[in-house]
Amino acid sequence: MPWSIIGQDRAVAALERALREGRVAHAYLFVGPERVGKHTLALKLAQALNCEAGATAMGAPLAAPARPAPEPCGECAPCRRIAGGLHADVQTVGVEEGEEGAQKGIHVSQVRDVERSAALKPFEGRSRFVIIDPAEEMNAAAQNAFLKTLEEPPPQVVFALVTADESRLLPTIRSRCRRLELRLPAMSEVEAALAARGVEAERARLLARLSRGRIGWALEAAADASLLERRQELLSQARALASMTVAQRLELAERLAGDFKRKPEALFAALEAWRDWWRDVLLVQAAAGDGVANVDRLAELREDAARYSRPGLAEFVRAVGEAGRNLGENAQPRLVLETLLLGAPRAAEPARR
Ligand SMILES: [Zn+2]
Repeated sequence: MPWSIIGQDRAVAALERALREGRVAHAYLFVGPERVGKHTLALKLAQALNCEAGATAMGAPLAAPARPAPEPCGECAPCRRIAGGLHADVQTVGVEEGEEGAQKGIHVSQVRDVERSAALKPFEGRSRFVIIDPAEEMNAAAQNAFLKTLEEPPPQVVFALVTADESRLLPTIRSRCRRLELRLPAMSEVEAALAARGVEAERARLLARLSRGRIGWALEAAADASLLERRQELLSQARALASMTVAQRLELAERLAGDFKRKPEALFAALEAWRDWWRDVLLVQAAAGDGVANVDRLAELREDAARYSRPGLAEFVRAVGEAGRNLGENAQPRLVLETLLLGAPRAAEPARR
């Protein structure tokens, strides 16, 4: 299947219809949780708009079909170049490594660059295509500049705004985009997709559970065993938190806060694993084992479920989520982590339920 986007039939159908009817919008908003395929789907739309196979399939002349294909073939030269990030007319704008101390985000200078290139005719294809991902990282000045572009969109340009948090975009930007919502696929869909790619059945089941529907993560973990190993280490760390002394907790907070500046994603992965572990423990306590993500570590989950008190765990799971949000909003990482770790479950606590 040329779109090969798992679990997003509605969004795909909307795009196919627009392509077939020649009613592709100037700007799209791809909305949905992390790692469900928003960026991938945007790239597929760029392919469909520039694909050279469509016209031949419909019986039109071989060279330079005038209309976009209703779906990308994935095989022709433009499709391949777009997939490889080599197509001159397809551009992705993201958060750039700023200078030390500079505010992180997508800056107005980047939007001005987009404006300039968008005004040019396509070099090699039919359509220019600009992906802004994550679009909500445009700062206020960048959003205002981009709004001007959207108010008078240059011809032959399609913008794709990719976001997991549309509330941070100006309503005036959102209202000028056609909105496509991507959802979390069901675990069974992820499992089937992995199996179809030759992943062994038991492993496919585990990865599907761990992914919680984030197909991008599942595919990556299927291809790269170190990802799962790293996750197992983080889960062991989640368990070990409970046996740490106050001094050890403060030391860990300091170390993680130091690493956060260089590799924020590593800390977010750790927080996610901590939360997942203790949420699983809560699920086991509530005898709701069906929802457990870490099915391969059920024995340890049961041990912890018998050892810790439920209200404390629930509070910690909530606090991990809050810490993640605070860190995302540039709060003091060391303070956030100290508070979080001092509130982590304690092994000495007697089991109460
Ligand atoms: Zn193609």
